[in-house]
Amino acid sequence: MTGTADHNIAANLAQVRAEIADAERAAGRAAGSVTLVAVSKTFGAEDIAVAIAAGQRVFGENRLQESEGKWPALRERHPDLELHMIGGLQSRKVKGVVELFDVIHGIDRDKLADAVARASDQTGRRPGCLVQVNTGAEPQKSGVLPGDADALVRHCRDMAGLDLRGLMCIPPVDADPAPHFRLLAEIAARNGLAILSMGMSADYAAAIAAGATHVRVGTAIFGRRAAPA
Ligand SMILES: *Cc1c(COP(=O)(O)O)cnc(C)c1O
Repeated sequence: MTGTADHNIAANLAQVRAEIADAERAAGRAAGSVTLVAVSKTFGAEDIAVAIAAGQRVFGENRLQESEGKWPALRERHPDLELHMIGGLQSRKVKGVVELFDVIHGIDRDKLADAVARASDQTGRRPGCLVQVNTGAEPQKSGVLPGDADALVRHCRDMAGLDLRGLMCIPPVDADPAPHFRLLAEIAARNGLAILSMGMSADYAAAIAAGATHVRVGTAIFGRRAAPA
């Protein structure tokens, strides 16, 4: 489960942080208003430890089983870590996700919201939740369609009683991401949601210009992954 070893993780992290600061300044936004979620999927605990030693505290993963293999020990050593589940979720894995993660980015249907609510009752843990919006309406991609987003937001808040904090999206690979970021920001604004999780290695500066509060960056920090994940 290790990608192409990149021995410059600390330097890469400093570079990404500097570019985030530049993008904040260019957008007239306060320094430190964007949270960097370091996406460590496929990389092992040794690589993650380098990022932790360089001061990184917020991490993203997309698979429960892989996360259960590496994060409990790291969390024991570093109780101030914040762990984000950024991948699609199957209902039967929700309890494990709620037990391990602090924020869940992929809420995309009523049933999943209900499963998170049940898991919260069972475990006493109440992770922050984001609704994933399929801004490009791509058939292969998870996320609620833009036209159904307001209804899902209401369900998450009023029926399921989740700690709903915001929205996330993954724009289509070959498209200009800016209109997708703007659409997500509009849906968040009209629903009074503060968090916008958008922007990856290739487009996080554009996402910050459009109002991202959280960027999810993997490759630019850890190097290329061995297999698409
Ligand atoms: C893998 C992944 C990322 C990070 O992508 P990079 O291009 O490596 O920065 C961000 N968000 C999600 C949902 C991902 O699955």
